[in-house]
Amino acid sequence: MARKNEIFSSSSQKTPVDVPGGIMKQDVMKEFGWEVPVDVAPLPSQGRVYPASTSLHGKEVVSIKAMTAKEEDILLSRAYSKQGTTVIELIKSCLVDKSIDPSDLLLGDRHAILVAIRITGYGAEYCVDATCPACNTTSEHNFDLSTLPLRNLEIEPVKQGINEFAFTLPVTKKNVTFKFLTGKDDLEITQTNERRKKLLGEQADNVVTSRLAYQIVSIEGVTDRNKITTFVNNMPARDSRALRLYIDKHEPTLEMTTTMICNACGASSEVALPIGMNFFWPRE
Ligand SMILES: [Zn+2]
Repeated sequence: MARKNEIFSSSSQKTPVDVPGGIMKQDVMKEFGWEVPVDVAPLPSQGRVYPASTSLHGKEVVSIKAMTAKEEDILLSRAYSKQGTTVIELIKSCLVDKSIDPSDLLLGDRHAILVAIRITGYGAEYCVDATCPACNTTSEHNFDLSTLPLRNLEIEPVKQGINEFAFTLPVTKKNVTFKFLTGKDDLEITQTNERRKKLLGEQADNVVTSRLAYQIVSIEGVTDRNKITTFVNNMPARDSRALRLYIDKHEPTLEMTTTMICNACGASSEVALPIGMNFFWPRE
């Protein structure tokens, strides 16, 4: 169940940054009468999928420092943009706990942190062009990022601290385990698909099956990647659909859907919040 996220709205608690090596910097900034405020960002996974050996294990929130000019440099960096690592570098820079590798975060956790960083930097108001699903008119809308619903992890992993969940396929009755994708997984899938397309042409686009094959960890205890891929390519459509729906429904994340009322036709519709360039460069 989605619940109203209260963490973003109570973002007034400011504590000074306490990072090793950051102390001197803080002292200098104190002289200027300014300390970079620290806030918390929620982890929809509640840290239940991260190994006990990591600092993310069992954590419901992580500390982030507010965006400064340094983070604006990251957003403007052509090198990061070219490598597709802008988001990762931004999160890395804002996380207070430097032992966290942002690529290891579940996509949903990463998403929630990103929105929290945006709020600390520029506030919760997000002004963007949105298209009305009823009449197709595009107009500027103001959204409140602090009201986006947080969907926490509600299913139990097969073992605490492991990103693996059980599901029984309805048609073949096979017992499978699956995982929620991390940033690293997502990047790997994208790169593999691009290589495939280059090799075999556009018709080789198999985003759905390759994603699903990647998410399945085991089928009846079998973990061999080639066997899993073969199974996924030949499984009944109803099994594939049921598993995908189950994963989507339970993926812990910050939901980017919100209600908009159209200025042209007055219709009220649920829309996916578009994340454009101005997410981090608000309109003046
Ligand atoms: Zn409309």
